[in-house]
Amino acid sequence: MTRVALITGASRGIGRAIALRLAKEGYAVAINYHQNEKAAVSAGEVLTAFGKEGMLCRADVTRENAVREMVRAVEMRLGPIDLLVNNAGIAEQVLFTDLTAMQWKKMMDVHVNGAFYTSSAVLPSMIRRKSGCIINIASMWGQTGASCEVHYSTAKAALIGMTKALAKEVGPSGIRVNCVSPGAIETDMMAGFTAEDKAAIAEETPLCRLGKPEEIAAAVAFLASDDASFITGQVLAPNGGLVI
Ligand code: NAP
Repeated sequence: MTRVALITGASRGIGRAIALRLAKEGYAVAINYHQNEKAAVSAGEVLTAFGKEGMLCRADVTRENAVREMVRAVEMRLGPIDLLVNNAGIAEQVLFTDLTAMQWKKMMDVHVNGAFYTSSAVLPSMIRRKSGCIINIASMWGQTGASCEVHYSTAKAALIGMTKALAKEVGPSGIRVNCVSPGAIETDMMAGFTAEDKAAIAEETPLCRLGKPEEIAAAVAFLASDDASFITGQVLAPNGGLVI
């Protein structure tokens, strides 16, 4: 039977690469996005070109009801969800002393509350079927902390904590929960960085370069696969050695 994956924030960047990789692995893929319909349609067209089943689902992951409706729509169209990838994310650089409560809340809403809403919506069916997999996309900054990104680092650290605790709780139900914690990856999220900034990051990185979205997708595909059947509650960190 075709396995079904829901990937949040799959219109662009890392999420899009995950969607394409999972489609190649044989999954029917639901591509969630928030605003960029053009990018989502383009990702969907690539899936169709592979001859793979898929669907686009617009939903803001910060809205619990929208997430529940999205999960219901995916289950109706593609079947029960076997794999959830919590990838949707935003980034922002701001001094902690300039950070507003609204900026703080939005960061937590997208990364932490979003992952809570999606996971709560898919888990009842996974628990009934005694099978399923959740992969959270964190960040090396959630492991080490980034100056001027305290809210982002906090949200990503929370995702790592959620991964570990949820893995313990749902492991007995046959569900694995893991985390992929990327280093600096060339996507729109890095659009604000100058060529000099990127060169400086590459210089600090033992593998001497930034990562590619496809390299994060490969880590997700591994953790989702049967090769990772005894791995749960772990943080896999494709970061070129920047954080060891
Ligand atoms: P990106 O290119 O900016 O793409 C972000 C994606 O998230 C888009 O698909 C966007 O949808 C979606 N999104 C944003 N807010 C959303 C919301 N409220 N509801 C639903 N979808 C939403 O970012 P990326 O670099 O691929 O990052 C993907 C994940 O990896 C994020 O969690 C990020 O924190 C993490 N990460 C990235 C890096 C990096 O260096 N790039 C490093 C470590 C971790 P629209 O297209 O509709 O806007």
